Amino acid sequence: MTDSRWPTWLPLRKSLASLSAYGAPQVEAEATLNTNENPFSLSPELVAAISARISTVAANLNRYPDRDALELRSGLASYINELSGTSFSAAQVWVANGSNEIIQSLFLAFGDRGAIGFIPSYSMHPLIARVTSTAWIDGKRRADYSLDIDSAIVQITQAAPALTFITTPNNPTGEAISINDIERIAQSVSGLLVVDEAYAEFSDEKSAVTLIAKYPHIVVIRTMSKAFSFAGARVGYLIAHQSVVEAMLLVRLPYHLSTLTQGAALVALDFKDELLSGVSQLRKERDRVAQALGELGLTVLPSQANFLLFKGFTSSSAQLWQEMLDRGILIRDVGLSGYLRITIGTGAENEKCLHALRECLAKEKS
Ligand SMILES: *Cc1c(COP(=O)(O)O)cnc(C)c1O
Repeated sequence: MTDSRWPTWLPLRKSLASLSAYGAPQVEAEATLNTNENPFSLSPELVAAISARISTVAANLNRYPDRDALELRSGLASYINELSGTSFSAAQVWVANGSNEIIQSLFLAFGDRGAIGFIPSYSMHPLIARVTSTAWIDGKRRADYSLDIDSAIVQITQAAPALTFITTPNNPTGEAISINDIERIAQSVSGLLVVDEAYAEFSDEKSAVTLIAKYPHIVVIRTMSKAFSFAGARVGYLIAHQSVVEAMLLVRLPYHLSTLTQGAALVALDFKDELLSGVSQLRKERDRVAQALGELGLTVLPSQANFLLFKGFTSSSAQLWQEMLDRGILIRDVGLSGYLRITIGTGAENEKCLHALRECLAKEKS
């Protein structure tokens, strides 16, 4: 198959020719509620502390960073231990430029026998699989997009992949899987069970990190992009058995995580209490907005994350997305017909969003 987007002289890998680059639209809007970012900017105290740390390390930028990011990995281990009552050390943590890099490293290290994930879920899992020449299987969910654990176990057992991806809370649906169900899945997986917990701090469910001591083939992916208001810094990490971390060292690029990133992330960890109080505000807002959407006659999927997926409007997803943007509100068309996703913003942004939505729905009816 040829694809006319690419000139014939370009020796692009065949497996890439039909792909499209990841692309949530980057457009200016009054309220940007499309990529599940945390709406709270960093406090002046945190900004000052990051600036001070950056000034301290800047003089040493002639040197490569700590290749193994040991201090940051210890800090992340302590953070997880405090939240989940575990006892991980730096040897069980790996950190990279966003959890997307973590996902890429997992495919590079372990992709030989392919991977499965349950669609719809995070679109980067299959995309990074393709880019790393990892065979990917689209696992199936129920018609309402909830995960049927028994069916998932059958699908995983039949495919017997090297990597099984479970996203909880799931993006774009918001559904969280209980720790008991994660354990049942772990018992039926032969390769690695990768639990993407990008939104864990927003959820009431127990983290799968609590299962790693018993099931060494569980890998938990976390990120500072959402709960920590740190998407721009690019810091993601995994918690796993030490052997998984050792395999990450084989595929990482030398000095992959800059001194500036490591320094800034350490400071953010010092401010975890402040950052997590923003998370509890967002959880309350999420429940309030979910109720308001219901009152507008929309059907909202139960969410344990910082976003809501809803249906029940009569225009197409693309039409309503545009109508919202025309009113200054950028939300997300995740490619599921009849659904749209909104990220929870500040109270004021959510009010604007609900107001715009009310107008759009009234217009639909008229
Ligand atoms: C946002 C998100 C990520 C985060 O990616 P980063 O590279 O850490 O910013 C990972 N997984 C899921 C499911 C996400 O929604």
